[in-house]
Amino acid sequence: MGLHNHSKNFAANLAEIDGKRNLVGMAYDEMTGALVEMGLEKFRTKQVWSWIYHHGATDFAQMSTLAKPARDKLAAHFVVARPTISQDQQSTDGTRKWLLKMPDGQEVECVHIPEEDRGALCVSSQVGCTLTCRFCHTGTQRLVRNLEASEIVMQVMLARDKLGEWPSAKDERMLSNIVMMGMGEPLYNYDNVAKALKIIMHGEGIAISKRKITLSTSGVVPMIRQCGEELGVNLAISLHAVTDELRDQIVPINRKYPIKELLQACRDYPSASNARRITFEYIMLKGVNDSAADAKQLVRLLRGIPAKINLIPFNPWPGSAFECPDWDVIEKFGDIVNEAGYASPIRTPRGRDIMAACGQLKSASLRLSATERAAMDKIIAEKELAQGLEQVATA
Ligand code: SAH
Ligand code: SF4
Repeated sequence: MGLHNHSKNFAANLAEIDGKRNLVGMAYDEMTGALVEMGLEKFRTKQVWSWIYHHGATDFAQMSTLAKPARDKLAAHFVVARPTISQDQQSTDGTRKWLLKMPDGQEVECVHIPEEDRGALCVSSQVGCTLTCRFCHTGTQRLVRNLEASEIVMQVMLARDKLGEWPSAKDERMLSNIVMMGMGEPLYNYDNVAKALKIIMHGEGIAISKRKITLSTSGVVPMIRQCGEELGVNLAISLHAVTDELRDQIVPINRKYPIKELLQACRDYPSASNARRITFEYIMLKGVNDSAADAKQLVRLLRGIPAKINLIPFNPWPGSAFECPDWDVIEKFGDIVNEAGYASPIRTPRGRDIMAACGQLKSASLRLSATERAAMDKIIAEKELAQGLEQVATA
């Protein structure tokens, strides 16, 4: 099975909702075709596109630059859809997680992480994930399908609705960046992800630039170049281990595309430069990949690649087999990488209390039971207490 067939085999048929076609998720030319087919003039696309993606209109009656007959015609054949919200949770740190129900009933999660004057939206590309990285909750979900382009775009639109950020042109936006780091492996659903990102980047609509979009992959080597050439977004690689022996175990896709091939694809990544470095994500697992020797090997491996390293303290979930290292171990690791000249920020866990942190996402079809939730709260409380005490002790 070719990589491209992957999309087709898993996709849901969401082209129609109540017998009407969803305009969200159509490429610009595709929308033109759909409008013309219904007897509308070609130039209407520009107006409709702007109403949908710049103003956030969901009702054709709002589209005041169109004459009434044109609006009626649109309303007769099309919808501007949104997913429904199954759950809307806010963390004590401001992180917000939406559990979104798609038209076929499947659910995915989407997380907004606010900073002082901007914010990132963590977008999902699949329901679940076919890969089974050992530390990742999403990988334990049984049900998997690809998201359609419309379902990817709709996550961004819904977040904009909720944050009150229409129209697009506002200078200071709390949804300024997009990270394809939610549920799923985006490069296993490349066609839909690419289509969605082109819509999101379109200058007359949502208009988030490729420089503000980061796609994270566990290492689907054959798709990396195309991603760089066609989309030019920032690349993040979930590396997590410095030997094939360990990476084979914790990131099983490594058995197919080992470290050497992965790093070569990074060296060849078209839009990488010193100004636009590739991010290497490195999850810190206690006693597994957190030694000083690992840090030194990491530096050796990345030589010659414009890179920055993001150290991610392991986020626990019920039943996970790993632990997060003590804070001083993470810092020591970071210092070694830093001294070698690489930026190595330690990612502060965000939204752990609502299970919105990296690797904790898993949709409601298998939602936490009350017992699991209690176990989770306990893990978090103990961890945070321990880290807090250590930080106090070392301050
Ligand atoms: N499938 C893609 C996109 C998901 S990104 C990928 O793996 O890159 C999610 C990021 O969170 C990845 O870097 C992943 O390795 C990391 N992650 C997964 N489980 C985690 C956990 N329990 N704690 C911290 N980070 C985790
Ligand atoms: Fe899938 Fe990424 Fe989780 Fe691995 S870390 S199971 S690739 S979502």
